[in-house]
Amino acid sequence: MQSCGSHYPVGMGTTGARRRGQDERVKTKASIGVDIGGTGTKAAVVSEDGKILARAYKATDVHAGTKSIIDSVEDLLAQAAELEVEIQAVGVGAAGFINAATGTITFAPNLVYDDPKVAEALRGRTGLAVTVDNDANAAAWGEYEHGAGRGSEYVAYISMGTGVGSGFIMEGRLVRGLTGAGAEMGHTVIDAYGAQCKCGLRGCLEQYASGQAITRMAKEAVAKDPGSSILAFAGSVDAIGGEHVAKAARQYDDAARAVLRRSGRALGIGLSNIANIFDPEVIVLGGGVVAAGEAFLGPARDELAHMTEQQRRRPIRLAVSELKDDAGIIGAAALGRHEATSPITTRADRGPGSP
Ligand SMILES: [Zn+2]
Repeated sequence: MQSCGSHYPVGMGTTGARRRGQDERVKTKASIGVDIGGTGTKAAVVSEDGKILARAYKATDVHAGTKSIIDSVEDLLAQAAELEVEIQAVGVGAAGFINAATGTITFAPNLVYDDPKVAEALRGRTGLAVTVDNDANAAAWGEYEHGAGRGSEYVAYISMGTGVGSGFIMEGRLVRGLTGAGAEMGHTVIDAYGAQCKCGLRGCLEQYASGQAITRMAKEAVAKDPGSSILAFAGSVDAIGGEHVAKAARQYDDAARAVLRRSGRALGIGLSNIANIFDPEVIVLGGGVVAAGEAFLGPARDELAHMTEQQRRRPIRLAVSELKDDAGIIGAAALGRHEATSPITTRADRGPGSP
């Protein structure tokens, strides 16, 4: 891969009389956050106080994940140069198992990386400090620094989108495990005889509290109750999605409310497990499923409160994501900056040109 790091004037200052006045100004310091998904790669320039200064979006090349990331970062470096913003670091959030110490993707469920050593490739290209971590870990870090987890050093984050992701910050540090395969609440079992999960187990939390799971349960529900307005909103069984269930539930459709109650109670059990393992101060709920509202969140809160009370635990604060769809990019950027300056987790084999 051809290196073209020198093409970017970002953070390097410029020479020449015409630019001297601008050089004397203090540049805004920022970092770049990238959130790579199965369909799109979102990225942003994010200031130290968590504000988005510029954005980039590219369709993900599912056979060349690393290239998609590099393209997005190069786009933003050009934008940052225009804005006279000094980029200090890059953070990337990606689905799967990631060795954050080396910035290497070890397992990715939905796309192929042309170079799994993402951090090394990106460092070589830009000369910047690069951190690569699990996407839910990045989002958790975003809520911890700039969102609903602000002010606490004990933050649990659970994201319910197509699947279920999670990240935990305890004593101000991300919990990753030995190989980066830790902090996966989505694949903790809440019903040993439950629905088969892709991971090989049965009854994982992801089989109840994800968008995919709600769609599956809704299809089962309309098979028994074809009069449900879930079907009326969707038009056909195949077209059923979480949004139709949420819409039907808001109109007090019994089948829809039963699906969201079951899903929410399963989440509540998962939250109780989080309480038992981590004892967090706050649990932040994120991802598209949260938009289903009280028909889903109410049963989750009730189940958690019931289980907490049974165990005589102190109540845990539940919060909804403040950063919402931007949690991934804001978090990746904040994590990239944190890791570039933190002595705790900078064991990565940094390449030449990195700080
Ligand atoms: Zn599973």
